[in-house]
Amino acid sequence: MKYYIGIDLGGTNIKAGVVSEDFEIVSKTSCKTNLPRPAEAICKDMAKVALEAVDKAGLSLDQIEAVGIGTPGTANSEKGIIEYSNNLGFLDFHVVDLMRTLIDKPCYVENDANAAAYGEYVAGAAKGANNAVCITLGTGVGGGIIIDGKIYSGSNFAGAEIGHTVIDPNGPECTCGRKGCFEVFSSATGLIRMTKEAMYADKSSVMWKMNEEDGKVSARTAFNAMRAGDKAGKEVVDKYIRYLACGIANTINIFQPDILCIGGGVCNEGDPLLLPLKELVAKEVYTKNSAKNTEIVIAKLGNDAGIIGAAFLGLSH
Ligand SMILES: [Zn+2]
Repeated sequence: MKYYIGIDLGGTNIKAGVVSEDFEIVSKTSCKTNLPRPAEAICKDMAKVALEAVDKAGLSLDQIEAVGIGTPGTANSEKGIIEYSNNLGFLDFHVVDLMRTLIDKPCYVENDANAAAYGEYVAGAAKGANNAVCITLGTGVGGGIIIDGKIYSGSNFAGAEIGHTVIDPNGPECTCGRKGCFEVFSSATGLIRMTKEAMYADKSSVMWKMNEEDGKVSARTAFNAMRAGDKAGKEVVDKYIRYLACGIANTINIFQPDILCIGGGVCNEGDPLLLPLKELVAKEVYTKNSAKNTEIVIAKLGNDAGIIGAAFLGLSH
């Protein structure tokens, strides 16, 4: 059996896992990222948790084939450099060179959303696809594109920013400076904003009552209110799904992937999200009369996608 190390470098935690060649996570370890810190110190901790994961798996380093790192920001996967990460404070950091002095194995680096998409492609919901797009609905909307089995990140390694395509030029301002980005509407943050707007507009709504009981609004509030028969809650859900369908239909029209995979907490809503979404997308895509339509599926690997995808980055090169 061959084994690989996947590292998911985040703003809060550094997670590492040993993954077997049949895509099972054998062991996992983590430590705090403790920002702000120099890039070198973070890299040393990445190596430390990686070696701990090898120990925990009862393996020796000889049994490890390669190390892969998923990082926020722009990762030049050809040169092994994290060119820029606002989140981590990195600028042209030669992460692969440094990592190889700490763990002498082939090492790869990739943007974290791309690594997670690659995880779903090799072992999750997009397995078996030739072309796949993964969209993660979290604090923002992340994107990862797989073309002919390889990660596609553009000529400058900054591609796949599906969340920052505009679906309403008059919409609310996005963190990127544009207005009405897909992310502004279809992220969990966007859903919470739309829920709050509707709640304050209708204080007789179930959403308002739920807010008073729970003391907070979450991405589940509108869905829960809808299930409790709230008209205002259903309106928020319908609006959310309309925007999501728009962004997904745009993505399908550009890439026509075999599989479009959506992930993130809101996907736990299941059929009340997925069924109307699929129906709307089917009506909107350019190929609506074609038999060969993109399959829309829910991501399978959850938070493990980043580790699994990073572990196998060598296969995408
Ligand atoms: Zn944006």
